[in-house]
Amino acid sequence: MSQPLDSSKVTIVPTGTPSAPIPNEKLRFGKQFTDHMLQVEWTAENGWDAPVIKPYGPFSIDPSCCVLHYAFELFEGMKAYWTVDDQISLFRPERNMSRMNKSAARICLPEFDTEELIKLIGLLLQQDKHLIPKGEGYSLYIRPTMIGTTNAIGVGAPDRALLFVICSPVGPYYKTGFKSVKLEATDYATRAWPGGVGDKKLGANYAPCIQPQLRAASKGYHQNLWLFGPEKYVTEVGTMNCFFVFENKTQNVKELVTAPLDGTILEGVTRDSILTLARARLDPTEWQISERYCSIFEVRERAQRGELLEVFGSGTAATVSPIEEIGFEGGSIPVPLSEGEQSGPLTKDIARWIMEIQYGKSKFQDWSRI
Ligand code: PMP
Repeated sequence: MSQPLDSSKVTIVPTGTPSAPIPNEKLRFGKQFTDHMLQVEWTAENGWDAPVIKPYGPFSIDPSCCVLHYAFELFEGMKAYWTVDDQISLFRPERNMSRMNKSAARICLPEFDTEELIKLIGLLLQQDKHLIPKGEGYSLYIRPTMIGTTNAIGVGAPDRALLFVICSPVGPYYKTGFKSVKLEATDYATRAWPGGVGDKKLGANYAPCIQPQLRAASKGYHQNLWLFGPEKYVTEVGTMNCFFVFENKTQNVKELVTAPLDGTILEGVTRDSILTLARARLDPTEWQISERYCSIFEVRERAQRGELLEVFGSGTAATVSPIEEIGFEGGSIPVPLSEGEQSGPLTKDIARWIMEIQYGKSKFQDWSRI
């Protein structure tokens, strides 16, 4: 009988050496971890084993393990926040969990009951709750991961897997509030393609993007703006979704544009949240919200006509990341920023809307899960 993932079977092995919280000013993104981790093994024969929450630490892997050879690995990135009324909240975790299942299905790793994993993550958070940093911009970054663990170098579907969750206390992505960044529009390398796996959170999508990022950095850019195809459509920014604000002077409307979910971009939780909030809160007589293809040529032309108003990236790590310049074909496309600010007005409003929900200052649907 293949057992489903069952949070009620969890064993908790507390650490004998609990650590003190790291002072907020000493937090370094993704480099420090909490005292405990969640681990669940799966076999094709028996299904999900009993989950274990145990002290954070290394595990050993056989050199023939299939994750090391064929990249049977997927992950998620989500955050837990202390709300203003002193509760721990997760932001739309069911979205991360269902995305995780889609990633798993694509590389023949096992799917699981998403609510059970949310409950297990809740127990893990309780175990280390004193290590979740407090204050606006501070949170606990949660990294659910799954790997194939079959010990054989034949290429095939894994018959063993390990699901684990580790947590890292983090501060604001930009220490001094917003910091606008510069992008290199990248067309010599392709992050994802139709029929590929760019919409899945597989580790194998990330390693090949680092060399182009270093190349962009050597020219003074912070991130790649990934272009796709002969039309040079804009897709994503580094590891964020990408939004443009245009002004349509003839119709007297503004347009918020992001790439459509056609399988070549990640279905960001922040992206969906921004689209939903924009549709709910921006005046429809003044704003058009579009999921459509937009080429870098359109961006450049409209910038030249003074119709490009704002550009920003969106993702769990930085929430919203304003963009001030895009380098393309040896030239530069400048993006206006508000006077004395690091972003345009909509970018700032959207970042605030999302943070207010995450930190429990305002409520929107059931997005904040306590
Ligand atoms: N695109 C890519 C390639 C990413 O890795 C991420 C980060 N998960 C995102 C977009 C943003 O997704 P989310 O808003 O869910 O963090």
